[in-house]
Amino acid sequence: MKAIMYHYVREDVETLPHFKHLHIDDFEQQLDFFGKEYGFVKKEEFLASFKTGMVPEGVVLTFDDGVADHYKFVYPALKKRNLWGIFYVPTKNFSGQILDVHRIHLLLGGFDAEVLTNSLNKLVTLEMLTDIGRKEFTGDTYKSQSNSEATLAFKRTLNYTIGYEYRSQILDTLMFDFFGPDKKFHDFYASPEMLREMALNDMIIGSHSRNHFVMSKLSEAEQSDEIKGSFLELEQVISDPKVKTFCYPYGGFHSFNETTEKILTEQGCLFSFNVEARDISNEDILGRPQALPRYDCNAFPFGKCRQ
Ligand SMILES: [Zn+2]
Repeated sequence: MKAIMYHYVREDVETLPHFKHLHIDDFEQQLDFFGKEYGFVKKEEFLASFKTGMVPEGVVLTFDDGVADHYKFVYPALKKRNLWGIFYVPTKNFSGQILDVHRIHLLLGGFDAEVLTNSLNKLVTLEMLTDIGRKEFTGDTYKSQSNSEATLAFKRTLNYTIGYEYRSQILDTLMFDFFGPDKKFHDFYASPEMLREMALNDMIIGSHSRNHFVMSKLSEAEQSDEIKGSFLELEQVISDPKVKTFCYPYGGFHSFNETTEKILTEQGCLFSFNVEARDISNEDILGRPQALPRYDCNAFPFGKCRQ
């Protein structure tokens, strides 16, 4: 069985010329490809495999970050084909603010990475880079993406090496300087109503934490708050989520630890996804359901970002 991971799936955005996304037409072509090549796993079969330990053959679709794209483009494309998917939502999406991780995407989508990185370097001091010494954050991140050096530097600093206590303020400044004081990104996220509708129509809505932080940067208490808090907040949106599932923000083995998996198991989470690119085996389902592997969509035909 193959789980596939998607993020932004949309039409091209004129105002954000470098915004990384899978075009909806390519997504539809990829669905056709998966249907012909592997077939899709039925939801009931997938969920039953956690009891039987027998993994069915075929593809399972997952979508990260709770963006409005998933309601506007993905959900209709799935419904048209009678398919289902798992949608992982950071619950701070419901706060009315754009999360830091997505402000980073918007900045890189709108502006030249080198100009952005130069501006960032003027704002960041060495004291702020509290996790610069962690080799797993500087060596092992973003290996499966093709990024320019400047994009890599911008993302690594803001997502991994900076202390979170400094990050939001720096992003406030960059957003103000680059987009101006009045720019708002309305309707960036799927609303609670949209997610409710999707959940009522066969989709699974899972937790992607509250703030989309790198879990391994957090203390046990902070991780616990991110996981328990997000499950509670999701339950308020989806009155009966039926399945408790999680996917790790960023998702590489550097991004979570034993503590994260322990908390998830204690919380009754049935399964969690990381981003290790390989098939899911019976051993994975039985032996380590809190670290199921997943492929990026770019590993298959039609899955490359146009930008
Ligand atoms: Zn994510």
